Amino acid sequence: MSPNASRQTTVLVVGAGPTGLLLASELNRRGVPCELIDAQPAPLHWDRATVVHPRSLQIFESMGLVEKFLTAGCRQRFVKIHSDGELLGTIDLAGCGSIYGFNVGISEETTESILTGSLHQHGGQVNRSSRLVGLTINSDHRVVADIERDGHPYQMEARWVVGCDGLHSATRKLGGIGFEGHEMLKPWAVFDASVEPWADTFEAIMAYLEPFPVVLTAIPGHRWRVYLRPSSEDSDLVAEAASTLRAYIPSAAFVNVENPARFRCHTMIATSYRSGPVFLAGDAAHLCSPGQGHGMNCGLQDAFNLAWKLALVHQGAAHETLLDSYEIERRPAAAIVMKSGDDYEDSTALTDPTERKARDQAIKSALADQEISHHDMVAETELNIEYAHSPIVFGDANSSFAAGYRLPDNIPVQLPQAATANLHALGHHAGSTLMLLGGPTADPSALLALHAALQKHVRDSPLFETAVALTAGAHEPDSIGRLEPAAAAQLGIDGTTLLAIRPDGYVGLRADRDHLAALDRYGAFLQTGHS
Ligand SMILES: Cc1cc2nc3c(=O)[nH]c(=O)nc-3n(C[C@H](O)[C@H](O)[C@H](O)COP(=O)(O)OP(=O)(O)OC[C@H]3O[C@@H](n4cnc5c(N)ncnc54)[C@H](O)[C@@H]3O)c2cc1C
Repeated sequence: MSPNASRQTTVLVVGAGPTGLLLASELNRRGVPCELIDAQPAPLHWDRATVVHPRSLQIFESMGLVEKFLTAGCRQRFVKIHSDGELLGTIDLAGCGSIYGFNVGISEETTESILTGSLHQHGGQVNRSSRLVGLTINSDHRVVADIERDGHPYQMEARWVVGCDGLHSATRKLGGIGFEGHEMLKPWAVFDASVEPWADTFEAIMAYLEPFPVVLTAIPGHRWRVYLRPSSEDSDLVAEAASTLRAYIPSAAFVNVENPARFRCHTMIATSYRSGPVFLAGDAAHLCSPGQGHGMNCGLQDAFNLAWKLALVHQGAAHETLLDSYEIERRPAAAIVMKSGDDYEDSTALTDPTERKARDQAIKSALADQEISHHDMVAETELNIEYAHSPIVFGDANSSFAAGYRLPDNIPVQLPQAATANLHALGHHAGSTLMLLGGPTADPSALLALHAALQKHVRDSPLFETAVALTAGAHEPDSIGRLEPAAAAQLGIDGTTLLAIRPDGYVGLRADRDHLAALDRYGAFLQTGHS
């Protein structure tokens, strides 16, 4: 321990926004010693993210929190896009391929409060009024953080520091990591209000792509968070938004207006997500247009990706190189939403009437084309993120469902004691799950024997938490669960397939043959860092 360090931990998480709270909660759940600090004396009341995407709802389900979000928030099932006085088309998220066929509209303050509850439940807490001001790496390659608590300095020594400290991340700057990108030329503004009269659905995001664009996102209580591009620095935000809306609802008025604010946006990405023992996640690592509601959702996924990896390395169950996969998997995901956000900003900023007409026609055609519309919907919900090219996923190629893809959440299964469940929920564990799946031609006795071998493997290996078996073929219902033949076909399974499901729901290994040998190779890779 360094001479001035007064406290020690394994992971110091800097910043108790949604990203840091989720990370600290997941680390605590896995018993990883962790300290979470935040410079603010209390949670921020300036509310930002309202749109929680289906992928984040899946994460909250896995953490046992989804019911809280569904109860506290409101559903945004439809995205209705308007321009030039007409409805260009509607995206119905019910078709996105998830049991969560909607976004949840909920204030970021409530999201943080639910995540704080989860952190407390797992024995953690937020150390407030504690600002990171310095970082050094000592001779043991550990980080010594200088922290000021209510003006009093102290030091914290940690094996790893994760900067979840937002746009102006001190962790990023002190860690010597660059931040590249650009500021968006035109500012945005926001306020909360009710609209009267309102005859349309409240389960929606309504986009009006007029020269001064306005986006209404549903929040609880039949209210809307209203985003707009104001015409000048001191324009009347409510009057400007109303003038756009009146092209569609002539008598529309915003009433009970709250919290008007103007803000500037950036498209930025950290040059690296890791520098030695220093990691970045959330807004500290990437910023994008708020227009598509990806910022917080992307940060939640960062934290969910990193937590189980830090835990396995801390426990000595996996080699340190596992941590390199965090940037490899998550940085491209941020690049996708940044590009999509820039395209969105460019498209809403068009003023030339001919260009606007061409844009509107392109949106109309895209929404009318089922394939394009579905592709866009899956991107909007962040269900398109996959890690097929990650160096830590392995296995037999399959055109239907391969390693690096996320287990779908809409496959019902029957468990041995006749209980029904959803296949993906069988992987909701702090550790990885071995899932043995039989297709129509699976040999029932071989399946049973393999299942028994996997259960023994789980007892002997710290990498896996449990083993389950299901089949669409002939079987002994008391010991093996039932998978529908259509589900086996959806997953490209004919004989017997072994999947190793990572704690974040992605497939780490797919083995269609030589299952135990493939599993040994996979485990050896995670433990040694080479194959
Ligand atoms: C108007 C608006 C609307 C948005 N809407 C959406 C949306 O609908 N959906 C969506 O996904 N995203 C949205 N976003 C983006 C979203 O708000 C952010 O992506 C999200 O808040 C990032 O969370 P975070 O935890 O990474 O960082 P933050 O929420 O910024 O948290 C960082 C924390 O770090 C603390 N901190 C900073 N410096 C230090 C230090 N030196 N020491 C200790 N603590 C420190 C801060 O006090 C803060 O609590 C929106 C953004 C804006 C501006």
